[in-house]
Amino acid sequence: MKQHLGLVHVYTGNGKGKTTAALGMCVRALGHGYTALIIQFMKTGGTYGENFLDIPGLTIIPSGHDCLVFSRAVTQEDLDRAAEGLEAARDALQCDQYDIVVLDEVNVAIKLGLLSAAEVAEVVRDRKKVVEVVLTGRYAPPELLELADYITEMKSIRHPYQKGVLSRKGVDR
Ligand code: ATP
Ligand code: MG
Repeated sequence: MKQHLGLVHVYTGNGKGKTTAALGMCVRALGHGYTALIIQFMKTGGTYGENFLDIPGLTIIPSGHDCLVFSRAVTQEDLDRAAEGLEAARDALQCDQYDIVVLDEVNVAIKLGLLSAAEVAEVVRDRKKVVEVVLTGRYAPPELLELADYITEMKSIRHPYQKGVLSRKGVDR
């Protein structure tokens, strides 16, 4: 057990780097022999480079359906997948099997109404206090900011998306 772990990070804002910062921190931790779990809210496996990794100590659970974004209506399937992701988070945070647990895009899942800020905050608050938690996604709600020890806002100054360049393999996904 790593007694020095147990703090909460939030990566939010509209600039690039939230998910990759979380991944980077996991890689750093793995280098010290720690273990990491990433739960990917609203993401399906097979799209992101990280889902093809096979690194001892790193576990990734895609917990989305059909890569939900703002472009379509929320379905029951989206709600079910998000609820499953939160249950996986609850399980992971109540034991110390993983040293770092990342809830990737959880802020967006809350924004879209797939999860409530209160229920996510409860899961984070009730964690075993030796687990480091990382919450990513635009629109971090006040309930999660309140729990955070680190809050980092990625601010977009320029992004190719503004010129119509969609996400690029190996860079944005
Ligand atoms: P990364 O995974 O590269 O660290 P991130 O986690 O900070 O990025 P997200 O907000 O999760 O960023 O997702 C960014 C994705 O959303 C990009 O793939 C991009 O194509 C798309 N996107 C849509 N609108 C925008 C925008 N206004 N600015 C930047 N990216 C946008
Ligand atoms: Mg992201």
